[in-house]
Amino acid sequence: MGCQQGYNFHNSMHRLSAIILTGLFVVIGYWFSDTARARTISNIFDSLINGSAPTDQMAFERQSLSAVNARRAEIGLPALVSDSEIHDALGRFSLGHTRMAEIDLNPLFATLQKEFPSAQFLSATVLLDPREEGLWSSLAKWEDVINPQYSTLSTLAFRDGYRNGCLAILVRKLPEFDLEAANREGGRFFRRCPHCNSAHAIVLNQEAQTLILACPDCEKPYDVLAADIEGKFHRANDFLQGFQIPNAPSLPVGSSPTEKEKVLRTVWHEVLRHCAYEYDQAGQHQSEAWKLPSQTWHDAAGDCEDTSLLLADALHSVGIEARVAVGWNIHIGQHAWCVARIGDRQWILETTLSLKEGEAPELRTVADAAEEYQPEQLFDREQLYFRGDGKERAGCGDYWAASNWSGLPQQ
Ligand SMILES: [Zn+2]
Repeated sequence: MGCQQGYNFHNSMHRLSAIILTGLFVVIGYWFSDTARARTISNIFDSLINGSAPTDQMAFERQSLSAVNARRAEIGLPALVSDSEIHDALGRFSLGHTRMAEIDLNPLFATLQKEFPSAQFLSATVLLDPREEGLWSSLAKWEDVINPQYSTLSTLAFRDGYRNGCLAILVRKLPEFDLEAANREGGRFFRRCPHCNSAHAIVLNQEAQTLILACPDCEKPYDVLAADIEGKFHRANDFLQGFQIPNAPSLPVGSSPTEKEKVLRTVWHEVLRHCAYEYDQAGQHQSEAWKLPSQTWHDAAGDCEDTSLLLADALHSVGIEARVAVGWNIHIGQHAWCVARIGDRQWILETTLSLKEGEAPELRTVADAAEEYQPEQLFDREQLYFRGDGKERAGCGDYWAASNWSGLPQQ
């Protein structure tokens, strides 16, 4: 690995902070009042009276809402409303259960979240009381009804022996993730994992500047977002906008691999010569932001991801396949670099080298640099690629092999 003689390799590049969002914001609440006593009721007595449930479910829910909202109003919380979709789903769920007082809430949550992926905040309780009025006052005392994160209350009333019972569920549905809305208003959203299709809640950490979103269920990453210098988040791909370096060499159709290699080398050297490496200065908040290739060229300076974006975009523009790699370098730590392919040959293109006058570094093949460069995600203009070989912190001898990388198309 003696290929770096003559250039300076900068060593303090820890700017690429990857925040993995694995928080699943599901709140599960149980509150079985009197369940133990309810279970002592004889089965014969049950079977005689069960089924004579209160007839007007909607009237029961309205009464429940007014009891609960009176308590919320006391502390200045907005009123909960009913959710007919959840209400109907409770009814369907109850059909499969003869003893509502003893239902397991976990399958109910699973059923609801499967049907309504936006329902990411859920809390449920089962209450029993000889009188319906007793149920409403117990509901109003339920701790979770004064949790400001919930927006709807749905109920299912039932009979359990000589008692009345109700299943009550608090829900907040989140909007589906939309990058524009997240940039505009922030807040919580739900997203479906493109690998396993499970839905989960996400919130963009506005303090972070590179976000690698991963699924809390299958743990696979599925999106790379980065903040621009104004703090606005974009998909990694969207930073590749078709930039061309001035006076770029042209590559006529049918050029030989040798001619392409020559152009590849020229574009790489041009980026190295034109752009100074920008050190990360502690306390400089915007230093981790990603710059658009045109901005990096204009500034004639950038850090590892800025210049890798610039080089990959410039290579695309002359007709050479290139990707930006985000991952780990054994000398540097978190790092970004560019890779390019011509025919069956692939090269690592380091963009943080400082060249002295007259220097022209040689191309380094991916195989030669495999131990040193350990890619975790790749992207080009169209897709994000995640390691499909299950390896972490490992070198890679082929940045295009479908067996190593699974691609996710980005809008
Ligand atoms: Zn998943």
